[in-house]
Amino acid sequence: MSVIEQQNTLKHSRFAYDDQAYVIHMLTSNESTFLTNAYIIETQSALVVVDTMMINSDAMQLRQHMDKLNKPLLAVIITHGHPDHYNGTDIIIKGFDKVPVISTQGVRNCIKDTLDSKEIKWKPYFGDDWPDHKVLPNQLVKDGEYLTLDGLIYRFRDLGAAESSSDLFFTLGEKQSTVFVGDVVFNQMHGFMNDGNSAQWLTVLAQLSSELADVEQLFTGHGAPGNSYQLIQTQIEYISDYRKTLCSFIPNGSSLSDGTLLTDKQKKSFEELIQDKYPDHQLTSFIKAGIDAITQELILESMGSKGCLTTDL
Ligand SMILES: [Zn+2]
Repeated sequence: MSVIEQQNTLKHSRFAYDDQAYVIHMLTSNESTFLTNAYIIETQSALVVVDTMMINSDAMQLRQHMDKLNKPLLAVIITHGHPDHYNGTDIIIKGFDKVPVISTQGVRNCIKDTLDSKEIKWKPYFGDDWPDHKVLPNQLVKDGEYLTLDGLIYRFRDLGAAESSSDLFFTLGEKQSTVFVGDVVFNQMHGFMNDGNSAQWLTVLAQLSSELADVEQLFTGHGAPGNSYQLIQTQIEYISDYRKTLCSFIPNGSSLSDGTLLTDKQKKSFEELIQDKYPDHQLTSFIKAGIDAITQELILESMGSKGCLTTDL
C-alpha cells in the first residue's frame, strides 16, 4: 500500500519571483496520469490555481498543498479541455465561496462536448478515482482580456485550435516574465497529437515564437519550465518531424474514402522511428495516440493544394 502511495505522490517544485511578489508552485502527477502539471500561483494574500489534475487522488494532493499555504483561493484557470487539466476542479474549489473558474468559450465548449466520451474511455481504467462531478468554466475571458487578482495582472490570449480544439495562454505581471501555455508546448515529452490539428498547432507556435520571444520563463502542461523561445522552437521541430516521418508511410494518392490508415506493422515502425529520434522523451504512449488523427489530417491536406505528399515539409 505504501508503495502505491509513494508512486502517486505529486512532485512539488517552487519558483519564486521575489521582485514581483509571487511564487509559482508546480505540482506534477506521475506517469499513469501523464506527468501533468498543475500550478498554484501564490501572491501576498491569495492563491490562484492553474489546472486541476485528472483523478481524485491527485486533485486531493493539490488541494492539500493549497491548504498548507493557508490563503484564500481567488480563481481557478483552465488552460484547455483535456481531462488531465480540468477533472479535479470540484475538489479544488470545495468549501471556498464562489470561486470563478476562468477560461475561454472555446475551452468551455470543448469540455462540454467531450465530457461523455472521455468518461467512457477513462472511467473503466481509473474507477472510483475518476471524478463524478465536473465543473465547467463559469467566467469566460476573451482574447486580449486581462484581469488583476491580488494585485497581479493576468493577460489572456485565445489561440483557438492547437494541441486541443481550443487553447489559451496567459502571462503574469506588468513585466510578463512568465507565461502559462497549457499543452501548446511540451518539454522533453512526446506531444499529444490525438486531436489532429497539427498544421494549425504549427501556425499557432510560429505566432507564439515572436509574441513570447521576450518572456523569460514558459510553464508547460507537461515537463519542466524553460526558456520560452527555445521550448517553442523545439516543439515546432517535434511536430514537423512527426508529420514528415508519418508522411513517409502514406502512399501517394491515398484518400480517406478508401478507409486505409496505417497497418499495425507500419504503426509499430513509425513508433520506433520516433522513439529512436527522441530517446529521452517521456510519454511514449502519445506517439501511437496521434497516428490515426495525423494520418487523416495529412491525407486531407494532400487532397488540397498544400499537400504534405507533394510539398517538402
Ligand atoms: Zn492537452
